[in-house]
Amino acid sequence: MSRRIVTLALFLLLGAILNVAVAWGIVLWSNEYPYTPAYEKLGKRADWARLVARDWPPPQFQAFGQTWGLSLQIQVVQPSLSRTSPGAGLSLFRSGWPSRAVEAEYQGKHFGGTPLNRIWRYSIELPQRARPNEPACYRPVPCRPIWPGFAINTIFYAAILWPTICGPFALRRLIRRKRGLCVSCGYDLRHADHEVCPECGAVVGPSAEVNG
Ligand SMILES: [Zn+2]
Repeated sequence: MSRRIVTLALFLLLGAILNVAVAWGIVLWSNEYPYTPAYEKLGKRADWARLVARDWPPPQFQAFGQTWGLSLQIQVVQPSLSRTSPGAGLSLFRSGWPSRAVEAEYQGKHFGGTPLNRIWRYSIELPQRARPNEPACYRPVPCRPIWPGFAINTIFYAAILWPTICGPFALRRLIRRKRGLCVSCGYDLRHADHEVCPECGAVVGPSAEVNG
């Protein structure tokens, strides 16, 4: 029983690793960027998606866009109208598939659409050489898990990995049992009534067919 729990924990861990690898891979390799679809549909909204500075009024407008595996939510309290005019707002950049699993957050004042300090929180900055044709601040590598998306993806990938890794072994055990062979080593048990396998010492299960 405890072995099953360890196996389950191991597969959930592998599922979580694969989940994050997919989310980061999309950031790195996707040629689409949710910024463009976001700015095609502007809307107004009365609440901030996250806690912001107390003196910020409700956002003047917000934009939301997504491409495969990526989404970007932008909420602006003060649009920056030129290179020198200050703007302020909140942006959430999320990645992951099938659900969005991790996010980076930008919150602050900026000039001319470029974040003043270029710092996304909860993210790893992508080295410029990874995407040479884009400013690095376009694609933060998100590090903060989003619930329930992170859990959904982790279970999704664990459920794919489990049969992929364990399936061939389970199939081999099933075939050996059907043929009356030792499930551990494949030794032929059909010609005598064994309690343990004479080859490897494994206990012979009651379901082994002894076809004599
Ligand atoms: Zn054996």
